[in-house]
Amino acid sequence: MSSSQSIELVERYAARNYRPLPVVIERGDGVWVWDESGKKYMDLLSCYSALNFGHRHPAILAAVRDQCERVTLVPRSYHNTELGPLCRELAELCGLDRVLPMNSGAEAVETAIKTARAWGYANRGVPQDRAQIIVADQNFHGRTITVVSFSSEPYYREGFGPFTPGFVSVPFGDAAAIERAIGPDTVAVLLEPIQGEGGVVVPPDGYLRACREICDRAGIVLIWDEVQTGFGRTGKDFCWQHEGARPDLMTLGKALGGGVYPASAVVGTEAVLGVLRPGQHGSTFGGNPLAMAIARASLRVLVEEKLAERAAEMGRVMLEGLRSIRHGAIREVRGRGLLLGIEVERDVGGARRVCERLLEVGLVTYETHERVVRLAPPLIVSRADVDWALERIEQGFRGL
Ligand SMILES: *Cc1c(COP(=O)(O)O)cnc(C)c1O
Repeated sequence: MSSSQSIELVERYAARNYRPLPVVIERGDGVWVWDESGKKYMDLLSCYSALNFGHRHPAILAAVRDQCERVTLVPRSYHNTELGPLCRELAELCGLDRVLPMNSGAEAVETAIKTARAWGYANRGVPQDRAQIIVADQNFHGRTITVVSFSSEPYYREGFGPFTPGFVSVPFGDAAAIERAIGPDTVAVLLEPIQGEGGVVVPPDGYLRACREICDRAGIVLIWDEVQTGFGRTGKDFCWQHEGARPDLMTLGKALGGGVYPASAVVGTEAVLGVLRPGQHGSTFGGNPLAMAIARASLRVLVEEKLAERAAEMGRVMLEGLRSIRHGAIREVRGRGLLLGIEVERDVGGARRVCERLLEVGLVTYETHERVVRLAPPLIVSRADVDWALERIEQGFRGL
């Protein structure tokens, strides 16, 4: 099938909830993808961090094959061989006690919200149905009704009400605003440590630690949504580790599935995640042996290949390289580790125009919030790859 046929079928039969760039990716390997005409691109999007380990990582594919030879799906009403080991390995990596596996990132966030509410009613004496959770403006935590209920993005919400109550939103990066918003019914603070979809917004130094201290003083639950920032992306295994701001609950997704399979999880302390009782929560596919085997392989790759360190190192090279590109269209370059964003000036026709141009020169990127081009290569990227990408980015901007 030709590219134009593939695209036509999507336009004719798929719901219109996306606006993809006009390229059909047929094959991927490591940091590279190829379209149907055989043209090669470097993947600087990594499926929003779901491809931290690159396309078709051999150790992860080996785990897929091996598990497929044994058993793929076992309901949680029985035990399987992979769930226990994954829970231990993930809890230990996070420095937390327990793991609740789900499938998508949004489901992990929903699960964390349920858990924080249940904890608040049982431990904070909050009257039934009154629990409040503090979130940040410009957040992104997924697309379910409850999650878009506390989005500040009209586009995510309009036409989808009525919404779930129980959320208060404050400016991101302002710890004092969190403190002021805490009331007797507050049970938790839910934040991304860096806002990815919000435009790669890095909070001021000390913010993560201040959030931890505020939650400790108020006796409420701190939830970091590390679905995008987790698994080495920002130069630490988890972004909160930059400031030692260990959460009570953390949501993970994207890279947990090794670029192969959807897998997410809530990881938490005994005191908080330990509140859930049998029957209160569940998922048909959550914790299935195929997902767990893939997640285990992904954790091994993260640790054995020292990908957090590599993200820190390559991120520095990339940030410096991007900042040295002198071009009138570039307003700001920011980010941490390999989660980087180029904010472009208003008059270049939006970040989308830049992404289209970068695609022409062999780079897969995508805009976030009209004005920011997100750059987030797989963490396995080499120094030579980074140099190649920087050269192409410069070439792309020159041709704007
Ligand atoms: C992508 C993302 C989600 C939602 O994950 P899905 O798997 O798309 O449901 C939640 N939180 C953050 C921070 C994300 O980046």
